[in-house]
Amino acid sequence: MVSRKYRKSSKHILAGFISTSLFLSSCSQVKNQSDIVNSKPAINTKIVFTKDSLKATIITDTNLSNFDELMLQAQTPLTAKYLFNKVYPNIHDSTLVVYSKELSENIPESFFKRSITGFKKDGELLQFTFQIDTAFIFPIIKNDIVKFTKIGYLHSMFNIDPVVPKFDELTPTTKLLLPIESLSFPSKASRLPNAPRSYRSGIHRGIDFFSNWGTPVRSVADGVIIRSDLSYKEVSPDFRKEMLKRAATLDRTPSDIFNELLLGQAVIIDHGFKLFAGYRAITIYAHLSNIDSNIQPGYIIKAGEFFAMSGNSGTEPSTLGTRKESHLHWELILQNSGGEYYFGRDLDYEKLIAALDSLFQN
Ligand SMILES: [Zn+2]
Repeated sequence: MVSRKYRKSSKHILAGFISTSLFLSSCSQVKNQSDIVNSKPAINTKIVFTKDSLKATIITDTNLSNFDELMLQAQTPLTAKYLFNKVYPNIHDSTLVVYSKELSENIPESFFKRSITGFKKDGELLQFTFQIDTAFIFPIIKNDIVKFTKIGYLHSMFNIDPVVPKFDELTPTTKLLLPIESLSFPSKASRLPNAPRSYRSGIHRGIDFFSNWGTPVRSVADGVIIRSDLSYKEVSPDFRKEMLKRAATLDRTPSDIFNELLLGQAVIIDHGFKLFAGYRAITIYAHLSNIDSNIQPGYIIKAGEFFAMSGNSGTEPSTLGTRKESHLHWELILQNSGGEYYFGRDLDYEKLIAALDSLFQN
């Protein structure tokens, strides 16, 4: 399918073709000349690629030895996966694979080719440059990905814009307190953002602080309460199971099932726009067992103020009436006009740990 958005491209390709033909005909002229003039020994004709592979230069002399072979190399298309990663350098490997496949199916391969953009004669040496037109192809990749993510495949929950903030370069104006005073953030990947959560067909967006049922929980920064489930009642195990089946059918966790059911008894605090430049920040405290009665929407909370007790509400053991698997599930969500992002999204493990180190006070 080559749709309307690619129409510009046929001109583009045509322009590329004309210039390539011109260069090729000028090459054959040079070749003829060189046949006559050929008095000096030939230098090696070579091809040089830039580190990012977006550009290639063929350097040759008038003998043009193995020029055709190098022309082929210069114009070999880069892979959709490689270019996609150039546009979105922080993307998950799994996401990369899925989206690249989609891109290869939607965008003609010729768009991933370096086309000839320049010719220079420097004494005996000839230089031909070939280049990927990133100003042309990158927006096409972006449009395609935006369209695709709107359908909602991976990371669909909360996110509309795949341009994820670089969380490893984003530091808060004031470092956050840890939500449980005595606990540092865990090092196990399964308790951190980006861990798969197959039971709900989703991805973990927060941090699990494992602590005994009833451990005091505090606000990580100044803010205002926007949700407080003071009259929370646990649901039945069968109902919870049925909702998880529906999530599995969709192959993702729908936001209502996540927010209304799986968070259990929860508090959400709005930290406004001061904590991270350019973003509104909210924090989520989930699976609580008790919330102080004064904690209601509109309540102004201070950093370090204790407001609830940890628990296991919203988990399967809780629906079965036990206190097993008690932990505080905590999330930091940043929002801008493009979407909402959980802190740490798309960071690999080492970068995530470093980002969390600079997020929290020690
Ligand atoms: Zn969790």
